[in-house]
Amino acid sequence: MITVENLKKKFGDQVVLESINFSVNKGEVVCLVGASGSGKTTLLRCLNLLEEPSAGTLKIGNKRVEFGKQKVTKEDVKEIRQYSGMVFQSFNLFPHKTLIENIIEAPITVQKRDKKEVVLEANEILEKVGLIEHKDKYPDALSGGQQQRAAIARSLMMHPEILLFDEPTSALDPQLVREVLKVIEELAKEGQTMVIVTHEMNFARRIANRALFMDEGYILEEGPAEKVLSNPKEARTREFLALLE
Ligand code: ATP
Repeated sequence: MITVENLKKKFGDQVVLESINFSVNKGEVVCLVGASGSGKTTLLRCLNLLEEPSAGTLKIGNKRVEFGKQKVTKEDVKEIRQYSGMVFQSFNLFPHKTLIENIIEAPITVQKRDKKEVVLEANEILEKVGLIEHKDKYPDALSGGQQQRAAIARSLMMHPEILLFDEPTSALDPQLVREVLKVIEELAKEGQTMVIVTHEMNFARRIANRALFMDEGYILEEGPAEKVLSNPKEARTREFLALLE
């Protein structure tokens, strides 16, 4: 589904990602964990070209892009993004649109789908994430947890082959975290392919097939989530986990 080879990212002279290699198979849930500044968000953003990698190769579905040699075109970006949806820490809903308007916008304007059919599907998806009774409210009338569930619904409307989550619960009050994790856990059970940057270790142990531990721009350790997150082989991973206990 996704293959990343020798991916590098620099911001000016600062090398933030060094030769990253990994792949994600269809139906897999992969968690990216690591200390603040280790490069998790940058790597996730490189996967849908919100950041342009400085070198290396990214393959998603049938699309392959090489970086650093030729210029990445708008068409490349569009094709890569057809495969993936991103859920941000800060929800990023349109404040002047109701929930349902937020989630029907892209399928109608970007995918040019029939409005009636999109509205029908939007109702189903809002039901699924437990927001149907709030569909005509504006984002600021909702809790952070509800807004984040709406953001997930908006991504699902695009039928992404892969969903990318950037610390989806870190902007939420603790009592709202669980409702968002539950929605993500449901998606995992349905076989949705996902890459999730998270500091919620219990959640990651429970739902991820694999965990990648990042340290200073490298993937230092990778393997089954329960192994990497409960019984890691690298001292740096153990130190990181101990800090979260
Ligand atoms: P956190 O858990 O705090 O979100 P992270 O592991 O996701 O951290 P990144 O946000 O990817 O780490 O940042 C990795 C490094 O890249 C940091 O040193 C950061 O300052 C730097 N960085 C990230 N984005 C940019 C940018 N747009 N311009 C310059 N430097 C950046």
